[in-house]
Amino acid sequence: MKASANDELVFLPLGGSNEIGMNFNLYGFGPAHDRKWIVVDLGVTFGDQTTPGVEIILPDPTFIEEHAKDILGIVLTHAHEDHIGAVAWLWPRLKAPLYATPFTAFLLREKLREAGLLGEVSITEVPLSGTITLGPFELTLITLTHSIPEPNGLAIRTPLGTILHTGDWKIDPDPLTGPATDEAAIRRLGDEGVLAMVCDSTNVFVDGEAGSEARVRETLNALIGELKGKVAAACFASNVARMDSIIRAAEANGRRVCLVGRSMIRMSQAARSVGLLEGIAPFVSDAEAGRFPPSGILYLCTGSQGEPRAALFRVADGAHPHVKLGQGDACVFSSRIIPGNEIPIRNLQNKLADRGVRLYTERDHPGIHVSGHPCRDELKRMYQWARPRIAVPTHGERRHLLEHAALARDLQVPQTIAPRNGDMVRLAPGLPEVIDEVPAGRLYVDAGVVTPENGDALRERRHAAANGMLTVSIAIDGRGRTVGGPDVRALGLPADEDYPLTEVLTDLAREAEGALARLSPEDREYDNSVESALARSLKKAAFRLWKRRPVVEATVLRV
Ligand SMILES: [Zn+2]
Ligand SMILES: [Zn+2]
Repeated sequence: MKASANDELVFLPLGGSNEIGMNFNLYGFGPAHDRKWIVVDLGVTFGDQTTPGVEIILPDPTFIEEHAKDILGIVLTHAHEDHIGAVAWLWPRLKAPLYATPFTAFLLREKLREAGLLGEVSITEVPLSGTITLGPFELTLITLTHSIPEPNGLAIRTPLGTILHTGDWKIDPDPLTGPATDEAAIRRLGDEGVLAMVCDSTNVFVDGEAGSEARVRETLNALIGELKGKVAAACFASNVARMDSIIRAAEANGRRVCLVGRSMIRMSQAARSVGLLEGIAPFVSDAEAGRFPPSGILYLCTGSQGEPRAALFRVADGAHPHVKLGQGDACVFSSRIIPGNEIPIRNLQNKLADRGVRLYTERDHPGIHVSGHPCRDELKRMYQWARPRIAVPTHGERRHLLEHAALARDLQVPQTIAPRNGDMVRLAPGLPEVIDEVPAGRLYVDAGVVTPENGDALRERRHAAANGMLTVSIAIDGRGRTVGGPDVRALGLPADEDYPLTEVLTDLAREAEGALARLSPEDREYDNSVESALARSLKKAAFRLWKRRPVVEATVLRV
């Protein structure tokens, strides 16, 4: 296929550029009025203290939803949540076929089954190093190494040039669960000519190399060999190589393994579906594990980030029905602190320490964890192999992307461009340039409902959390006379001995009564005007009393 005069090749990130998480990348080909699109990855990010009650955050697909019929396919590079977590939420709005390698496809099917979508969605399993042809895009998977089985980069060939979309990667010569980085394929692509490389920026501030899983295995083996009581180990369930290392270290030291946490069990099934985790002893159930001597058991737990509903937190809280840890036991954190999780992790570790559990983390025991993302030396090697004309940093916050662009310039890459979510970058023809800005934002999953970013419900929750709440209710008869109330109640507002809350509320009720008395007989006939008069008086009084603006709810009942 040849390009026509008006054809353009564009890259459009709708998530994952200027943030780590929520990857949602689009490539478009064709004239501006008739582009065909492919989507690479469709991930989530997670809520934090600033989004109370919101655990899952999705990229806003509005722009591409309007072109849904022109989406030729959704290709998933690997099975991390920041790359596939939004598929079940957003697929109904995009409705394009999915492409993934077997391990990723296994986990996708699980998600779609839970969402009741499995029957509707077409998932094509692509083998490692396989190819996918989608209209003008010809994709070849390139095997990389990362912190999950089957991480793939994509060589995307188009009539206007080839893009290397790296996905998440590092260069691990000995990744333990699968082949090493396919350096030869990347070099061949470099020889053929790479127009642009869209590349992971996560560790651009870290010198050297991320380090190999094989070294982690040795370190864990030695550490677990020294431990005497019960051992709990926490890692990301998706890091099957790490899971495998911990299991083998346990077995080498005479311990059986008990998986604790739903995602550990699900990931072990996904791993087995592609031939991983072979040749190990059967897992012990948590109910049976208690019958083993302390030095004969290792609990492999979810919850390394301090998630309050995960297994390790329940163990730390003494709330797990079967797994108990105490004096003489150990907990090994084979994981890093994801930025933003410092407080929950510290909370978890304090709880464990309080029970007498010794803690082992990468800070005091270097080598029990390595990152899955490329450090500077690995980035340099990738640029030497692929030799792109344009560097497009992605998978990073602003500072990561700009540092990555600077590194690429130092490496003599002729052009660099670091787009933000919503920036449509024309990669060819001509020099790379942002040619359009399209809407890009976030959607919050709030109690199972997909809502706009900072929608009313969350805004009100935040407001109430910081300022408290007052309610006032009153019953009025047909002639506009008060027959009950006003009754004022408070939530989350402080009082002291000198002026107890009961008195405060009585005084507030009196203020409300006064406000009502000042209303004209006509206004008293309308619920709205009565409610706003009551609310106004309480807001004023609340500000006088607390210097705060609580949420105020006024209700009129006609009797
Ligand atoms: Zn990843
Ligand atoms: Zn990622």
